[in-house]
Amino acid sequence: MKDAFALTAIGHIRTPFHEKFGIPRQSGLVDVAGVVEMLPGYDKPVLFDGLEAFSHLWLTFVFHQSVSQGWRERVRPPRLGGNQRKGVFATRSPFRPNHLGLSVVRLEQIQVKEGRVRLHVRGADLLDGTPVVDIKPYLPYVDALPDAAGGFAPHPPSTQLQVVFSDEAEGQLQHIPSGETLKTLIKQLVALDPRPAYRKEGDEDRVYGMRLAGCNVRWQVSGNCATVVSIEANDESQ
Ligand code: SAM
Repeated sequence: MKDAFALTAIGHIRTPFHEKFGIPRQSGLVDVAGVVEMLPGYDKPVLFDGLEAFSHLWLTFVFHQSVSQGWRERVRPPRLGGNQRKGVFATRSPFRPNHLGLSVVRLEQIQVKEGRVRLHVRGADLLDGTPVVDIKPYLPYVDALPDAAGGFAPHPPSTQLQVVFSDEAEGQLQHIPSGETLKTLIKQLVALDPRPAYRKEGDEDRVYGMRLAGCNVRWQVSGNCATVVSIEANDESQ
């Protein structure tokens, strides 16, 4: 008989990422704000007593948008150009048994509002609304291992693209609240080049898009330069 365990969401993280495409492939790659909204029963300040002394947290979460697609024995990590397969347990793929993920985030603030806790964090690589199932402090003396071998991803991805904004995109930013913050975020995300590693001939003219912070962001890539062509506010995705 198989062991089976039920997991319960203890909270949900709010991030500007409204779709999977464009989200950084690991935590800490982009300085993006997020808020973990704790659910009733897990939102009492007493449960967080002492956490304020830690700078970073481990979030254990469920890749909830992958659950319906099951899991794969072998997956193609984007870091290997998308054309080499590795065993699922040699990767951080969302398509894994139990669909559990682990991200390190910086803890900015433990906010208590009307007796309920919200954790303000930075650096998450998670979709808006991702269910969080556990929170633990990051312990540098055990969790940071400078001698560890990084397998097929020994270094952070090198920032690949230079990012410029079209006049149209610059104009649209003027009408968006916190436009400068959004611009900085878009720059960091597009520079990481979220395009699929495997590209076909003719993809050069392609316009890529992501839904971010209530906007539809579109860009094109030519060589190592990305041009953000438009940033349209889209109230529906907020
Ligand atoms: N740091 C985590 C880990 O190692 O478990 C996540 C790594 S995973 C490669 C990060 C990617 O998962 C993101 O780029 C995004 O495409 C995807 N993702 C983020 N949140 C998700 C969710 N709730 N459901 C499904 N996929 C998600």
